[in-house]
Amino acid sequence: MARRNKIYEGKAKILYEGPEPGTIVQYFKDDATAFNAEKKDVIDGKGVLNNRLSEYFMTGLNQVGVPTHFIRRLNMREQLVRACEIIPLEVIVRNFAAGSLSKRLGVEEGTQLPRPIVEYCYKDDALGDPLVTEEHIAAFGWASQQDMDDVLSLALRVNDFLSGVMYGVGIRVVDFKIEVGRVYDGDFQRLIVADEISPDSCRLWDIETGRKLDKDVFRRDLGSLTDAYSEVARRLGVLPKNAQVTKPTLIN
Ligand code: 5GP
Repeated sequence: MARRNKIYEGKAKILYEGPEPGTIVQYFKDDATAFNAEKKDVIDGKGVLNNRLSEYFMTGLNQVGVPTHFIRRLNMREQLVRACEIIPLEVIVRNFAAGSLSKRLGVEEGTQLPRPIVEYCYKDDALGDPLVTEEHIAAFGWASQQDMDDVLSLALRVNDFLSGVMYGVGIRVVDFKIEVGRVYDGDFQRLIVADEISPDSCRLWDIETGRKLDKDVFRRDLGSLTDAYSEVARRLGVLPKNAQVTKPTLIN
């Protein structure tokens, strides 16, 4: 049998050449890493949950007119996505202070921000994804001013969508990270949301109890990551209410 062509292997995903030109198969691994891969583990079922949750969010975004790379889910761990040229930035949107913002600026975790704050980090593992300004982005040619206007607009639209959907199931979107890619339709370039949207890339807190339902559970040793992600999936109706959590059964 022919072996498929691996394009890239990252910390949480593997990308393979897709069945048609311009497509990619995105495989979700069970590996969890934090602090630039200084902390590592394999979490049974994480890849399955993130594949399904990212499908859920990306499909919803496509439906409300926010373009994403998502085409369709292929199986429990893989989805077919549109190939794009990734802008080398992590685009972070924050609604409440937490994580590196709290550390950097001394703002207490959980403080509501006066308005959503959008930050950019340069994607470079060796440098630890440093925070950069639009000046750096323009000067080093990572994205044009027009791109950055579109990136900002996409990021805020994703924030509105995610915050609304999660509020409906009693979860606060504290912050999240997206990646944005360029695709070409004939002579025209447009930007789409790429990579993944999952509890690996968001901070999600239960509105009533403050319970963390995201990767901070792993980063800060707060209990079972699978339990936390399964809770998110269950509330969104992606996982049946009585499902076993270690090997999740997903609603199609
Ligand atoms: P912070 O800057 O506070 O560490 O992270 C802000 C938000 O972006 C959090 O929701 C965090 O999960 C997400 N984020 C930041 N960097 C990364 C990254 O390298 N990978 C992933 N998956 N998420 C990230």
